[in-house]
Amino acid sequence: VDQLSRVFDVSAPWLNRMIDRKPKRYLRAVQDVTFVVERGKCLALVGESGCGKSTVARLVTGLYRPSEGAIVFGPSSDGRPMEAQMIFQDPHASLNPRWRVGDIIAEPIREFGLREGSDAIDGRVAELLHTVGLSPDDAKRFPHEFSGGQRQRISIARALASEPEFLVCDEPTSALDVSVQAQILNLMRKLQDELGLTYLFISHNLAVVRHMADRIAVMYLGRIVEAADTEALFANPQHPYTQLLLQTIPDVVSPNRNRQMMGGEPPSPLEPPTGCAFHPRCPIATEICQSIAPDVRPRQGGGTIACHLASRD
Ligand code: SF4
Ligand code: MG
Repeated sequence: VDQLSRVFDVSAPWLNRMIDRKPKRYLRAVQDVTFVVERGKCLALVGESGCGKSTVARLVTGLYRPSEGAIVFGPSSDGRPMEAQMIFQDPHASLNPRWRVGDIIAEPIREFGLREGSDAIDGRVAELLHTVGLSPDDAKRFPHEFSGGQRQRISIARALASEPEFLVCDEPTSALDVSVQAQILNLMRKLQDELGLTYLFISHNLAVVRHMADRIAVMYLGRIVEAADTEALFANPQHPYTQLLLQTIPDVVSPNRNRQMMGGEPPSPLEPPTGCAFHPRCPIATEICQSIAPDVRPRQGGGTIACHLASRD
């Protein structure tokens, strides 16, 4: 447990209710979600849109409060309260267009009182720009003068400005071209090594998280259906949903191989199917799947799984 200190644990069972667009309708966005992010490691939450992964990100960063359960942070290394900083999918929307980049990055430095005086603050801004691969002169420019990838670098510099140890990244590269995506992912890995950062990395794309994550938790309709170390998950995916997700990844070895596509859209979280929520799309569902929700249990080879038909460890 010592090694797991500066991390958090969302204890089961708990659920989060959030208000849907229609008034007076509540939806259980996530339920019975339990995981630990080890210090210095990257945990990826993967699933289709609407599976609850962004809700988890917002719970962890304190933007939402859980209706049940707890999010527990271990101690920060310098004794300050642990701060989780968030990096969003769309840097265009999260950067104030009327502010110069230098002011955007300086704001958290001032807010947290991390440097005194404008020279020290300017110096720190220049250092952060350098850290994310931009030039100190970029401080004078406005966000719209940059490409999408450069704007995501600015967002990362701003997130780092408050000197967090833990970053929650919600689809940080999914708005970018593939080649730019790879550059940002490489930057994030480099920063993780150099600064000893801990990541909770949210993505709909298993290929993106493969080289980022130490561990992957696959979510479906508000629950974690399979979780394991990255290598183990790719080598031996055991949940039918994980298997289908992996089959929809472009295959570098045989790109023209016929791939089985995922049948249908995920059901609405407002009216989740009975039993195992995946049963309407599951190719191997049996009768029990329609009436009884599978428990989360140990997965063969390590991790957890929630499927009636998975073999027991
Ligand atoms: Fe498929 Fe049943 Fe397993 Fe759900 S519990 S994933 S429906 S086999
Ligand atoms: Mg989302």
